[in-house]
Amino acid sequence: MTARRKLAAGNWKMNGTAEALDQVRALLAAHGAPGCDILLCPPATLVHRMADLAQGSAVAVGGQDCHAAASGAHTGDTSAAMLVDAGASHVITGHSERRTDHGETDAQVRAKTEAAHGAGLVAVVCIGETLDQREAGETLAVCGAQLAGSLPEGATAANTVVAYEPVWAIGTGKVPTLEQIEEVHTFLRRELEARFGAEGAGMRLLYGGSVKPSNAAEIFAVRDVDGALVGGASLKADDFGGIIAALEKA
Ligand code: PEP
Repeated sequence: MTARRKLAAGNWKMNGTAEALDQVRALLAAHGAPGCDILLCPPATLVHRMADLAQGSAVAVGGQDCHAAASGAHTGDTSAAMLVDAGASHVITGHSERRTDHGETDAQVRAKTEAAHGAGLVAVVCIGETLDQREAGETLAVCGAQLAGSLPEGATAANTVVAYEPVWAIGTGKVPTLEQIEEVHTFLRRELEARFGAEGAGMRLLYGGSVKPSNAAEIFAVRDVDGALVGGASLKADDFGGIIAALEKA
């Protein structure tokens, strides 16, 4: 099997001002040489400062979104090259909150992901079903279609991470059963291998949705779970540190 280095990724969403960087300082002090990759995606206003703080450390910094265009008349948006300029190495694309709040389609997510790759960023591409879709038995069909539509042809193991995030599990405290997580991850791995061959086998597959220190270990023991995309529990160094510790042991 292709070796995939585990990844603990934090999505701060629209949370945090300068004082929150103390959490990063604490994380850096506690995890100098971690046994997994660590990524933090703060709001755009903190990317530059966090990247400066984390420079030379084991913590990578990413944006939460980027525009598909390189520059232009797009008030309020940030291009992939601007994230790179601010010190980011990664960007989240297609998070369900952007798909819902901003109506982002698979085609737009794919274009953003392509732009991220073009600028040299690793894209963390998010997919996942709603509760209605799960209850209608559409989970695999929905996730398969989102995966196919959101990943560009140039996706590789080096430039792409896929995050399976059931919409109904994000920020709700509800978590799918381990069997449900395994079913989706096994399916996604098959789809990635069928389309991208060895590159698909090497792409990291994260689970996201209400991961916390108390449930991380059992989730990380599931086959084909290569880490987590964490929202709420990434805001505090102690909580995120507990998840990192669980991943290091997985
Ligand atoms: C997320 O924002 O991607 C997420 C998974 O959030 P939470 O961990 O808070 O459910």
